[in-house]
Amino acid sequence: DRYVFDFAEGNKELKDLLGGKGANLAEMTRLALPVPPGFTIATTACREYLATGDVPAGLDDEIGEHLSRLERVMGRTLGDPDDPLLVSVRSGGKFSMPGMMETILDIGLNDRSVHGLAKRSGDDHFAWDSYRRLLQMYARTVLEVPDELLQAALAPQYAEWDVTTPEELPAAAIERACGALQGVIAEYSGCPFPQDPREQLDLAIRAVFRSWSTPRATLYRRQEHIPDDLGTAVTVMAMVFGNRGADSGTGVAFTRDPASGAVGVYGDYLQDAQGEDVVAGVRNTFPLAALESIDPDSYARLLSAMSTLERHYRDLCDVEFTIERGRLWILQTRVGKRTPAAAFTIATQLVDEGLITLDEALLRVNGSQLGKLMFPRFDRGHDVPVLARGVAASPGAAVGAAAFDSVAAQRLASSGQRVILVRRETNPDDLPGMVASIGILTTRGGKTSHAAVVARGMGKTCVCGVDTLQVDPLARRAVASDGTVIEEGDLLSLDGLAGLVYRGEVPVVPSPVVEYFESGAVPEGADDLVHAVDRVLRHADKRRSLEVHANADTPDDAARARRFGAEGIGLCRTEHMFLGERRALVEQLILAEGPAAQQAALDRLLPLQRDDFAGIFRAMDGQPVTIRLIDPPLHEFLPDLTELSVRTALDEAAGRVAKETTRLLGAVRRMHENNPMLGLRGVRLGIVIPGLFALQTRAIAEAAALVAAEGLTVRPEIMVPLVASEQEMTFVRRELEQVLTEVAAETGRDLAARIGTMIEVPRAALDAGPIARTADFFSFGTNDLTQLTWAFSRDDVEASFFPRYLDAGVFAVSPFESIDRIGVGRLVELAVAEGRAANPDLVIGVCGEHGGDPDSIGFFAAAGLDYVSCSPFRIPVARLEAGRAAV
Ligand code: ADP
Ligand code: MG
Ligand code: MG
Repeated sequence: DRYVFDFAEGNKELKDLLGGKGANLAEMTRLALPVPPGFTIATTACREYLATGDVPAGLDDEIGEHLSRLERVMGRTLGDPDDPLLVSVRSGGKFSMPGMMETILDIGLNDRSVHGLAKRSGDDHFAWDSYRRLLQMYARTVLEVPDELLQAALAPQYAEWDVTTPEELPAAAIERACGALQGVIAEYSGCPFPQDPREQLDLAIRAVFRSWSTPRATLYRRQEHIPDDLGTAVTVMAMVFGNRGADSGTGVAFTRDPASGAVGVYGDYLQDAQGEDVVAGVRNTFPLAALESIDPDSYARLLSAMSTLERHYRDLCDVEFTIERGRLWILQTRVGKRTPAAAFTIATQLVDEGLITLDEALLRVNGSQLGKLMFPRFDRGHDVPVLARGVAASPGAAVGAAAFDSVAAQRLASSGQRVILVRRETNPDDLPGMVASIGILTTRGGKTSHAAVVARGMGKTCVCGVDTLQVDPLARRAVASDGTVIEEGDLLSLDGLAGLVYRGEVPVVPSPVVEYFESGAVPEGADDLVHAVDRVLRHADKRRSLEVHANADTPDDAARARRFGAEGIGLCRTEHMFLGERRALVEQLILAEGPAAQQAALDRLLPLQRDDFAGIFRAMDGQPVTIRLIDPPLHEFLPDLTELSVRTALDEAAGRVAKETTRLLGAVRRMHENNPMLGLRGVRLGIVIPGLFALQTRAIAEAAALVAAEGLTVRPEIMVPLVASEQEMTFVRRELEQVLTEVAAETGRDLAARIGTMIEVPRAALDAGPIARTADFFSFGTNDLTQLTWAFSRDDVEASFFPRYLDAGVFAVSPFESIDRIGVGRLVELAVAEGRAANPDLVIGVCGEHGGDPDSIGFFAAAGLDYVSCSPFRIPVARLEAGRAAV
């Protein structure tokens, strides 16, 4: 087995082995672009090093062979005292982890070769500055010397020359600084800085391997869902120098604007500098266009290299380049990261340029990007200065009054204000405050912190880890690094997409994409984006076989869902039809003594329900409407047991005997459950309370007949919740069919309503075959199916232990956010297979929140479902993902 590959031996497909950086350097070498020569040590070597604590046997020899070859090509040997070859040792895993791992430049310099470099280049300053960089990087990366110690070593020279950066020092001063750095190294590690260049190289390679496991890199992988066991490749390449005077420099460039997608070349350039200076942001850079006048030849060569790359990769690329005394070198390229808006515009531009097909364009974007484009956002033109920065944890643009604890948040919210909860970090005790707020700001923690997880779950804006803000919850104030004080009630604006915090109110504009979906008109200034989204979405519609339905409970929601492209309603909940003023009627129904009283209560509920359904049927003319019969536990419709007990006791004490209250109390006692979510709900209610499901079915059938009589096409589907057994379904179906037959006879219209069931109890999935024989359709209720399969309650666990599970890597993502393929997914697959085998006409959908989750939709398509159903705002996302799943 070999571990080391020259650039000429690799290509861009070998990212697993060579890492993204190594694979792309190999690809550019094959394209004959000006890449300094070098070789890459495979990720397999890193994995072995991390597992055993040592590099694999033979690796050092293999490196020796490739190094000799590099030395022959370059005509110089590593660290040669007269004319040293210098190399960089660079990290780079399969997935880009910008700045998270280590890179060491200028390997090969020592107390002798630094003089050789000075003489050959005729530039003392350059040589000593390069040595200084090596010593600093070596100390930091190989020995993990704290930065304060290194800065302390440089400080005397800064003071003497009255400068603030090492580059400004004269050569002799840098030489003294190098001496001081070597002193720190020897003292800190007990060993002098290695003068043997090969020893430097070997130690650097091992340090880069180790940099895979730093806490910062580990945290980043967790947040980006990058597996922990991939390891990094290590690229060793000949150094080129941008720090050799005004005719040298370094920069980064993009083939298109990564923010807007606009065509053109964008980037930054820094004269007389080495690569890491640009990224570190220590000096102010020029816009790339300035290079055109500084060095027109190199600029032209850069443009041509970039156009080669873009045509070759058929996508936006970014590059790192360096110019050494008028000669251009490309040091890195990759398919560049971009904003969601740029992703859509670039994909369609590339179609127009003939570089990719529409199918490919569809694969270049995803549902989570489209979802982000649908949030309201801050007006781009605003000039409110940024107060502080943090981690963009949950998207959105929230403006509200600062509250420093839960109590204040609730108080401000109840006085009608929008609230931003500001905490160091949150824990389950903060939940009421989080519920009362529209945005959450924390000064600690990242994307998997409690605040972030809960905020995303609740769809609230969240910026966390804003570490420049000092929060004092007792004094109810926060202080920013510039001294700005935020008191309770002061307005803050949170940009959850960019992770920015503003003081005051930043104006918010609705998403142009949503405006377009709502009205069909293209908002001004958003033509490119809206047309790109529309075009890709239409193509997705053409491609997909999965239908997209909506979860909608009201005519308004139904109408919006249709505007967003829904092809039916997959879940119409009926709970709210029993709340508010109608609660009293439900109470009467439950308390009714004897069939007559019960019928009276039902008769009063019937017309109300009928009107509800009629409104939805009208909005959904021609499309199926799946109505779920009443699902929540009965106690939700009855007064609270404790409250009622107190009331009754008081009445009795006062000598008032309230017959109604006593009777109610008896009923509430009878119905009281310790664990209502596992109790009398769904189909169980239908079987226990006679007439309840019949009432709803009658309301549905009468509404359907009514709307059909108006000339519209009605396609009602009745869905029975929480079924666990075939017997329940058979029992209920008989009752419903009887009602449908009666209404058909009364109205003279047989609407052929279909009767189906939710599959949301694990047992139902296991018994899917028999159940399918009495059901026209299945709809997976993946929220309950997830809760019941995992045995945890969503309402409780998302705030209690999920953040810890996510931090610890036990969960890569919450199973409520993305379907758990191993457990819940397997139940889905089983139920699809056995359901279809028993009933080939069975229609199958999903109506849990996973139906709108970009990462889950591909699974549902692959599992052979007919449709996904999701909230109206997720419909475009689901259309897009369903299209992607089909190409
Ligand atoms: P990162 O992955 O953090 O960007 P890199 O490996 O790309 O780290 O290196 C950091 C900086 O050093 C980059 O700006 C890169 O261009 C520069 N660099 C790396 N190798 C060389 C080299 N051989 N010659 C000149 N500059 C280099
Ligand atoms: Mg880089
Ligand atoms: Mg359910």
